[in-house]
Amino acid sequence: MVEKMEKIWMDGELIDWDEAKVHILTHTFHYGFGVFEGIRCYQCHDGSSAVFRLGDHIERLFHSALIAGIEIPFSEEGIFEACKETLRANDLAEGYIRPIVFVGEGVMGVHPGDNPIRVSIITWPWGAYLGEEALKKGIRVKISSFTRHHVNVMMTKAKICGNYVNSVLAKREAVGRGYDEAVMLDTEGYVSEGSGENLFIVRKGRLKTTPLTSILDGITRDSVLRIAGDSGIETTEEKFTRDELYAADEAFFTGTAAEVTPIREVDDRAIGDGVTGPVTRKLQSIFFDVVRGRKKKYEEWLDPL
Ligand SMILES: *Cc1c(COP(=O)(O)O)cnc(C)c1O
Repeated sequence: MVEKMEKIWMDGELIDWDEAKVHILTHTFHYGFGVFEGIRCYQCHDGSSAVFRLGDHIERLFHSALIAGIEIPFSEEGIFEACKETLRANDLAEGYIRPIVFVGEGVMGVHPGDNPIRVSIITWPWGAYLGEEALKKGIRVKISSFTRHHVNVMMTKAKICGNYVNSVLAKREAVGRGYDEAVMLDTEGYVSEGSGENLFIVRKGRLKTTPLTSILDGITRDSVLRIAGDSGIETTEEKFTRDELYAADEAFFTGTAAEVTPIREVDDRAIGDGVTGPVTRKLQSIFFDVVRGRKKKYEEWLDPL
């Protein structure tokens, strides 16, 4: 359950949490035509707080809107500042930030006409997305019977609300059968990504991840690629198949929500020794040091609250 906070930012102002309501005729509610972001703020070792790669997330929000063809009625700087303002209004030293751009009420057809474009920013405390245990011991995943979006059916580079019905179908199927998360294949049958996470495998010390074609261009994925390169780990962005995933020494998911989550089992087959592998452990540990301000080298990624 999302823990109730004091304030929610809506269309330019902070309003009381309980007042942040929308009408049933809200266009996005019916057709999923809207865009959003998922961002995390961490408390650093010195007690201060910093938002991780906030500028990159806001830039992606505007790219998602551009791809969808939605004009956001605020500037990037305005939304950037509003995210921090919302965190401060809720006294959140650490938490999750969810900006959402949606189409309000007016006409009801698929064409949204001149319905107002609305923006809201919600913040709340959110610990490990898949649980603390998952971060340590890894999770069990299942190859989904649902295929990831074809690049010309949905816009895979945009966090468009409606895209996530595909994710919900895959996630519910996996969880319903006793797994923690789903891995979806692309329309050609290659490994794509999770319901809201990018996927990496390790084989003989080399790191491999799906190229950007069918997947969401994850900011955590980008961060891990850079951290791995800087740590002397060889990285490639190459398509791979489910059997290569089964035979990997290590595998893990990345995402703002999932952070760096090890995968210990795919389709009931242990990955490596079925425990968090050394490369995953190392990257996960550096990642958490980076987001909590313990690595000077990556300070440019932190936006002080
Ligand atoms: C948001 C998201 C990710 C992860 O992206 P981050 O920028 O790392 O949070 C991966 N896949 C999908 C489908 C997503 O929606």
